[in-house]
Amino acid sequence: MKHQKEFETLKEIFKKITDLRGIRRLLSWDQETYMPKTGQENRAAQVSLISSLIHELLTSEETGRLINAICEEVDIENSEDDLSVCIKHWKREYDRATKIPNTLVKELAYKSALAHETWIKAKKSKDFSIFLPDLSSLVKLSIEKAKCLGFEDHPYDALLDEFEPEVKTKEIEGLFKELVPETQQLIETLLTKQKANKATSLKGPFPIKKQKHLATIMANAIGYDLESGRIDTVVHPFSTKIGPGDCRITTRWNEKDFTEAIFSILHEAGHGIYSQNLPAEHYGTPLGESVSLGIHESQSRLWENFIGRSRAFWIYFLPIAKGFFPVELKKIALEEFLQAINKVTPSFIRVEADEVTYNLHIFLRFEIEKDLIAGNLLPQDIPDAWNSLFEKLFGLKVPDDSLGCLQDVHWSGASFGYFPTYTLGNIYAAMLFKSAQKEIIDLPILIELGLFKELFLWLKEKIYTQGKRYNSSRLIQKITGQEPQSKYLIDYLKEKYENLYY
Ligand code: ZN
Repeated sequence: MKHQKEFETLKEIFKKITDLRGIRRLLSWDQETYMPKTGQENRAAQVSLISSLIHELLTSEETGRLINAICEEVDIENSEDDLSVCIKHWKREYDRATKIPNTLVKELAYKSALAHETWIKAKKSKDFSIFLPDLSSLVKLSIEKAKCLGFEDHPYDALLDEFEPEVKTKEIEGLFKELVPETQQLIETLLTKQKANKATSLKGPFPIKKQKHLATIMANAIGYDLESGRIDTVVHPFSTKIGPGDCRITTRWNEKDFTEAIFSILHEAGHGIYSQNLPAEHYGTPLGESVSLGIHESQSRLWENFIGRSRAFWIYFLPIAKGFFPVELKKIALEEFLQAINKVTPSFIRVEADEVTYNLHIFLRFEIEKDLIAGNLLPQDIPDAWNSLFEKLFGLKVPDDSLGCLQDVHWSGASFGYFPTYTLGNIYAAMLFKSAQKEIIDLPILIELGLFKELFLWLKEKIYTQGKRYNSSRLIQKITGQEPQSKYLIDYLKEKYENLYY
């Protein structure tokens, strides 16, 4: 192969970068789980050191020269062979890293650190004005960042691209255009039906020790390998890949409601399974990495909602759960339980939202972010914009900003463009689930029997082993034969809830 030598050298450079990223993730994992509080300052310095080493390697003259040498002779845009895929992604990373001036990178990191503190304070005291100065700086810097990166149509495209490569603002708008009105209509119907069916609530307490045992059984059953993973306790659950053979998940526990930890574990295990099964032989190259945040989220939502909240899943697992909590769950029947875990309630907080209302929360944030980055909305006007759109979407008045525009951590880290990936995840999950149902014979029966291997192997073949070979739209199209669209999510929700309240 031509350019074999350059390719090998680049592989070595990016293997180092990948290792450093793994080390940085390990430091963050430790910070969230076991690090003593007093270690914070030193840890921040360590993380920043690793970040600057990564930046140095990524933007070095040698990296640029090698990438450009290969690019001159290979049509990376139109080929899908290993070399082209790797070079395409490395070039993307190199371009993104070199287009943004160092001063801007440093200012964003510095302001984000400050903003995180003021955001916590503002949220606690329900006072947006405390957060406003730092948020305004971050919006300004992010607009500048979008300009440096460049865009064709909308400045938000440049930011979105970091989280969901090659997906455009216009495409997201198209997805919501179909999804939002259908969701609102569905909520209206469901609220009436729920009124007629008094949903029972689960009555604990459910001892944490037993919850841990049950959750571990479930994570293991769906394919999360505990030999190469672990489950720890945190305030805000996440999953992380340190490297091949080490993909960890975390959760929090609630004694009053054991399902909270169960669904959080199923969600994080979905992420974990994807990470554990990325091809280890391609570690250090894009072919050993996940496609995007949206595709990652499709894996967590698939296991959490499409499988984890389904009738088939609980036909198998409710008797097992009753074995763990014989007194607490004695009186609850399967149908009652399903209605309880699938209850739809318009509410203020995104992370507590159910499967149906969730996407409205994302639409709200998408609309606001888009306007902010385009300069059509000023940061000081966020609370008003938020509250009025929230009322339009949910029919509820936001009582204060801690239940409104101050609830999420994302803006304090300048992560504009991140939110849409949650809804993309739901949309992709619905499309993948539909295809899996078509291709795997008797999937619901397998799940009723607690047999998840067929679905795991299907996902492994279609998604995990592909690494970054295709972007998200192309991957979805290859697997399902369709472009990303909201129809399948809407159909899935309608059908599911029809069967829940018949
Ligand atoms: Zn997730």
